[in-house]
Amino acid sequence: MSSAAIVVHSPAYFCDIGPHVFPVEKFARVRAHLLNGREIAAGDIVTPGPAPREDLLRAHTAEYIDDLEALRWTHRTRWSELPLTAEIVRAYRLAAGGTTLAARGALERGCGINLGGGFHHASADRAEGFCYINDLAVAVRVLQHEGLIRRAAVVDLDVHQGNGTALVFAGDESVFTLSVHQEMNYPMPKPPSTLDVGLEDRTGDEEYMRRLDPALAAVWSFGPEIVLYQAGADPYAEDQLGGLALTLEGLETRDRRVLEGCASRGIPAVVTLGGGYARRMEDTVAIHACTCRVALAASKTASNRPA
Ligand SMILES: [Zn+2]
Repeated sequence: MSSAAIVVHSPAYFCDIGPHVFPVEKFARVRAHLLNGREIAAGDIVTPGPAPREDLLRAHTAEYIDDLEALRWTHRTRWSELPLTAEIVRAYRLAAGGTTLAARGALERGCGINLGGGFHHASADRAEGFCYINDLAVAVRVLQHEGLIRRAAVVDLDVHQGNGTALVFAGDESVFTLSVHQEMNYPMPKPPSTLDVGLEDRTGDEEYMRRLDPALAAVWSFGPEIVLYQAGADPYAEDQLGGLALTLEGLETRDRRVLEGCASRGIPAVVTLGGGYARRMEDTVAIHACTCRVALAASKTASNRPA
């Protein structure tokens, strides 16, 4: 099955982080899931290179990137909840290269999918959580720098607020940051996004959509030339780090709202995976694969539309 979308993945998104709640195996498993389901063919997958330093510097400070390159544990890196090794830094540079590549592809083909990325807790001068490099911010800033876009939106539907992305783009009127998250969860405090929607514990499908729809309407009115979607799988009811109560069907509806919303408006969409810590890793993999399936279908419908 050929597809309009570009699909990006590197086997080196996997890195050894020791025993950890973050299932780094999931990137390859999502790829395998899509290949087994014949949603994509192996030949369709494009492998990114690591984001070059000059690209990283569009969203991060030189001091912070120096710390990462030298593997130094400083006040900038120590907020990470991962070890700091060359292999891990390389995996995060690859993810940033991957999201940038997917974003370039989205501008050409309407949709780009990175089977990784979505590391929204990293800010300009600081690691945080499981995030060293904010691939979403790097991709937006690189496309803007090259004059390929002016206005962008980041639609962050991870259960955790997108604090790093909010900080990078604070005061930047060319980028609309939306975060829909569980209010009483990490991170605390939450620096303001352009629009934050903080949900009550155990919010289910129906209430989620009732809050998501007007938030997306605000994104569409902003008129972005590209949407970067952080499609975290952790709003799922069975997530170990999340306290919302979405079902698998609810998460698919969520993905459709974003991705069909972009396709029907002719807005290029970039998918990144974000968080996902379901008790059963198969659930996390199935949620991410479903997001990709929705993105592939939406981009096909859009590309089949008469001009
Ligand atoms: Zn998360």
